Amino acid sequence: MNAEIIAVGSELLLGQIVNTNARFLSRQLADLGINVYYHTVVGDNPDRLKSAMEIAQKRADLIIFTGGLGPTKDDLTKDTIAGQLGKQLVLDEEAMKSIELYFEKTNRVMTENNRKQALVIEGSTVLKNDHGMAPGMFLVTGGNKYMLLPGPPSEMEPMFLKYGQNAIAGLSGNKAKIESRVLRFFGIGEAALESEIEDLIDKQSNPTIAPLAGDGEVTLRLTARDDSTGTAQALIDEVEAAIMARVGEHFYGYDETSLMIELTKLLKNRNMTLSAAESLTGGMFQQELTSISGASSLFNGGVVCYSNEAKIELVKVMPETIENHGAVSSECAAELAANIASVTNSDIGISFTGVAGPDSLEGHPAGTVFIGVHIKGLPLHVERLSLSGSRSAIRKRSVKFGCQIIIN
Ligand code: ATP
Ligand code: MG
Repeated sequence: MNAEIIAVGSELLLGQIVNTNARFLSRQLADLGINVYYHTVVGDNPDRLKSAMEIAQKRADLIIFTGGLGPTKDDLTKDTIAGQLGKQLVLDEEAMKSIELYFEKTNRVMTENNRKQALVIEGSTVLKNDHGMAPGMFLVTGGNKYMLLPGPPSEMEPMFLKYGQNAIAGLSGNKAKIESRVLRFFGIGEAALESEIEDLIDKQSNPTIAPLAGDGEVTLRLTARDDSTGTAQALIDEVEAAIMARVGEHFYGYDETSLMIELTKLLKNRNMTLSAAESLTGGMFQQELTSISGASSLFNGGVVCYSNEAKIELVKVMPETIENHGAVSSECAAELAANIASVTNSDIGISFTGVAGPDSLEGHPAGTVFIGVHIKGLPLHVERLSLSGSRSAIRKRSVKFGCQIIIN
């Protein structure tokens, strides 16, 4: 089966927004083993949408439309597609109810054009929208399969994840259930990870293993469908075990999570508190930590101590330490971590000092990073890293390493 994605919206053609919907859908479809041959972008214009659709009908089995399902005048995707298919738009009672409920809940008065959002193409399967009002649709007719999804990524993405796989699988003549699981790794490069499991990737067709790298992390998406040898979940379990046996030491979590989320879960479970003294990272660690709800139960506080004076005044680093070893040193990181824990009366103190670049500092090249971790009852630990990349990448990655050091 091959697919074409048609993104509808003049703002895309004007360069006001980026077509992230096509990127998202392409990745998802690749994981499902469906070839995407074309991305089309067309403005909010019925004639041009109609002609884009005519072309797609000839060259694609599955056509996915995003955008233009809303209540305003320029939202004409449904009318145009229905017209081209010779179908009527009919009112979907359930969609109408959830739109009314939405207005009730938000205490707003519903205007007549909002009814338009409850109109669906006759004969289609309605895909419920849990994050907005306009429902999506799935339809098979005349040898093509059509999926209509709303434009906002916050609505379109969860909707595709919820319904896309099974709608497409069901209608590709295969009623098998498809499941996927994402394994997240840190502290190992994409190339290194791939070479460790290359044979697994090559020989696997169910599940498929799709690696993806970004922000210093690597993820593997395992996607399987039920077959005669087992359920999708069981097939995924089996391959996951084989992967973990080789690179398990770098694994940190499943699906939508982050190192910081995993760290907070761990500290909550152990009932431990944390504080931070940040030079290199300028508060990034604490910013990311406090963006997680419930951080208050484990985070006591910390300081940003950028200058040597601040390290001495605020975190009581001994002046001799900086004189003899420099601020970018294992000794300084150790004192920062131990002192911030004691000042704030926390179980754990973490510190970041180093050279973000682009220039070198105290004779150390950019990317030299010392992370100090003091954990009550354990020997003080300092990790020295030599990171590469931009200033921003070095700082972001340091925060992630900090999380990982405590987790391990
Ligand atoms: P709404 O009910 O919000 O009007 P809609 O289905 O009618 O939804 P559009 O009006 O086409 O969708 O787009 C709404 C918003 O969704 C756009 O302003 C843009 O922010 C986002 N959006 C639309 N298409 C895309 C796309 N292809 N990629 C990324 N974002 C998009
Ligand atoms: Mg709209």
